[in-house]
Amino acid sequence: MSRNWGGEFLLLAALLIGSLLLGLLFGHLAWFLVLALVIFLARWFWQLYRLDEWLDSRRRHPPEAWGIWGHVFDEYYRLRRRQYKSKKRLARVIREFRESTAAMPDGTLVLDEEFRILWCNESASRLVGLVSKRDLGQPVVNLIRSPRFVHYLDAGEFEQAIEIRSPVDDARTLVLRLVPYGNSQYLLIIRDITRLVRLQAMRRDFVANASHELRSPLTVLAGYLDMLASGNELGPEWDKPVAEMQAQCRRMTNLLNDLLELSRLETDETDASYDEIVDVEGLIHRICADAQAADERTHVLEIDVACGCSLRAVPGELHSAMSNLVTNALRYSTDGTSVRVCWRAGDNGTAVFEVIDQGIGIERKHIPFITQRFYRVDSSHSRKTGGTGLGLAIVKHVLKRHGSELEIESEPGKGSTFRCVFPAERVVR
Ligand code: ADP
Repeated sequence: MSRNWGGEFLLLAALLIGSLLLGLLFGHLAWFLVLALVIFLARWFWQLYRLDEWLDSRRRHPPEAWGIWGHVFDEYYRLRRRQYKSKKRLARVIREFRESTAAMPDGTLVLDEEFRILWCNESASRLVGLVSKRDLGQPVVNLIRSPRFVHYLDAGEFEQAIEIRSPVDDARTLVLRLVPYGNSQYLLIIRDITRLVRLQAMRRDFVANASHELRSPLTVLAGYLDMLASGNELGPEWDKPVAEMQAQCRRMTNLLNDLLELSRLETDETDASYDEIVDVEGLIHRICADAQAADERTHVLEIDVACGCSLRAVPGELHSAMSNLVTNALRYSTDGTSVRVCWRAGDNGTAVFEVIDQGIGIERKHIPFITQRFYRVDSSHSRKTGGTGLGLAIVKHVLKRHGSELEIESEPGKGSTFRCVFPAERVVR
């Protein structure tokens, strides 16, 4: 038992003993006992009253008391102080968080579970046109009305960021990313990437213009080289150099064509049109016939196109992607091996285009990079066989525009499989 309770029991005992003695002295023992208990209870009520009054008041220091009541007052005072301190600390953390996010160049909005705005920093107000106080509590889609953003919220897949035009300035491009946190709350982070987009556009335009300008002189050179190759004016010692110059001219022409195609695909980031229905079987037969005709080696090309489906796609782009994959399979396979080209039905209404070779294969560490521009596992082999280093970059962009992705499986020395799965909404049976 603590010292404080000891004091309380001592007081009760003193009152009881006092009343017992008085009762024995003057008679009416029961009344004296009742009086002792009333005094004791009155003290407790008085202390309770003081506690209640102190809790209601704004006074800092507790009332003076001894025994158990002194202990209660002190403990309560300590708890109050601790709570006050942690409240102050929390307020400071919140203030610092707000100050730091307010100073951030990126816009930040705090949203509740129904995507209503709870708070935003100044950059957010500037980037998407919020007028702080008036817009608080409003659904964020009332302010950012882009259909892309509305769809992003509805879909609920927030791992990826999305790009939209700024609601206040059409010339600005914003990247929006929703980060869930705490109890169904969200942070919407908005970044202005206008400068980056402009730089990318400048780079694309430069490559496209340079490629375009280089094409005309190259056509002239190729024409004269063809003339020299067909005439006998130079003598037999020039046959080999002229043939080599023709080959380099062809290589440069292919490179310029690929650069132009890639820059066109990169410029147009919208989805490919659904208007045209491409007969994929016929297209594959044509691509394989062309590839076989151009193949200087002796590969066996197996065609398996029992899908019975066509595709809503842009024919030129599809041709370019598929022929790049078939040409690569032949380019990176040794003589006599077979290359299988399949067009088959996939799961859930999808359709799959697959090119399977038994060629040199690709080491696992290279696979994530081979769709980058000019990334080659073996540059000399690629160049020798007429590669430009842009084929798979073109394939990647075409597939992206058609809602598909390139899947690559490969084992060095055994061969590779390049697979494109086209979504059901593009498949026509
Ligand atoms: P390239 O014109 O050099 O073939 P691509 O973009 O088409 O350029 O391919 C990039 C690189 O990926 C190639 O240089 C080659 O190393 C590798 N690659 C592509 N297809 C295959 C394949 N079927 N087998 C093995 N390696 C391949």
